[in-house]
Amino acid sequence: MKYRISTLGCKVNQYETQAMETILLSRGHMPAPSGERADVVIVNTCAVTAESGRKSRQLIRRLREENPEAVIGVCGCYSQLSPEEAQMSGGTVIFGTGDHAAFLQALEKAAEEATVCVDDPFRRFVYEELPAGAVAGRTRALLKIQDGCVNFCTYCIIPYTRGRLRSLPIEKCAEETARLREEGYREIVLTGIEIASYGVDLPGKPGLAEAVCAIGEQAGPMRVHLGSLEPTVVTEDFCRALSSVEHLCRHFHLSLQSGCDRTLKAMNRKYDTARFYHSVQLLRQAFPGCGITCDLITGFPGETEQDFAETLAFLQKCAFSDMHIFPYSRRPGTPADKMPGQCTNAVKQRRAADALSVCNEMHRSFLEACVGQTLPVLFETEKDGVSTGHSDTYVLVRAPGEGLRNRVCPVRITNTDGESLSGIIEEEQ
Ligand code: SF4
Repeated sequence: MKYRISTLGCKVNQYETQAMETILLSRGHMPAPSGERADVVIVNTCAVTAESGRKSRQLIRRLREENPEAVIGVCGCYSQLSPEEAQMSGGTVIFGTGDHAAFLQALEKAAEEATVCVDDPFRRFVYEELPAGAVAGRTRALLKIQDGCVNFCTYCIIPYTRGRLRSLPIEKCAEETARLREEGYREIVLTGIEIASYGVDLPGKPGLAEAVCAIGEQAGPMRVHLGSLEPTVVTEDFCRALSSVEHLCRHFHLSLQSGCDRTLKAMNRKYDTARFYHSVQLLRQAFPGCGITCDLITGFPGETEQDFAETLAFLQKCAFSDMHIFPYSRRPGTPADKMPGQCTNAVKQRRAADALSVCNEMHRSFLEACVGQTLPVLFETEKDGVSTGHSDTYVLVRAPGEGLRNRVCPVRITNTDGESLSGIIEEEQ
């Protein structure tokens, strides 16, 4: 069968899409050439906000119209949450966030009948192993090492779509890493729904640091890049263990969400600003010059101007290298959706703009501090004799040079335009 896959959402969704494609190719199915109709269309949906739910429905409807004869398979967080709506939008085979192998089998069978098969994610006890990798290109591979979340942040629907905590056993993490190294990848990105909770479900409760060290031992020249982290996982022991990983990327993305303790409490986040800042300091001590980025929500219900002023001041204190900023989006089914003090869109957007200007200043300062340093850069693209890639601190770097794709080279940074760096490739020592 000829298939087409459309994916919304996070790195875990991207990972599961590439895994499904790897399985489809291994079963002799082919991607439908562009412009040609597909026999099967897969929509991997997202439900993190009400808006992503709307986009999921819209995408199912559009692909149904574009492929009237095709089997429309829907999976992911939105169909996990609202299977009926996914079916009404035009889905033929409806699954959730689990059992992707059964989903693909149902698609193969579905040319005949519609199927709705969505389980209870809190009754999933076994981690679903899917093949890691990346279908397009061999530079960066995703490795999903964890699934589920039980933190129940008040704005988040994910625990209800992904269920209880499950982890890929350490020996499997090491095996998959060795396979990806042999396949020629130069960077492995460790992802999951809440990787800070890695291992709590495994015998002996190995922590994330143990998994990263085991992966580091198998990675060889491959860079090891951590996905988003809850700040509470960052301790002296964690940093000490990670300092032993040879090619660990010195980039840490911490989930902050607010820089105001009152708002963090209302979000049911598991730390306050003092604990968060302690994590930032520990990382900077263990990994000098590292890039620290974060997520921020603006206009959370009940957030006052004073609260937001505290947040802006805290951002500047942390001096992040970059940020992802999200105006709060109401998500039906979450406690925050029912909270009093809902901010207007104008207030949410204005606060997001204020945070962005602070972010741009911090980003520029971080880049200026890189001038004169030599950074290892993984080159990904090339144009007109200039190669472009990412440093291990996760900054975009350009340097004159050809034929460098998928190679890590030391680059002496000579300049910045406030958004990226440029430099000269140095001879490997
Ligand atoms: S940690 Fe919080 S925001 Fe992240 S997935 Fe879990 S509940 Fe959602």
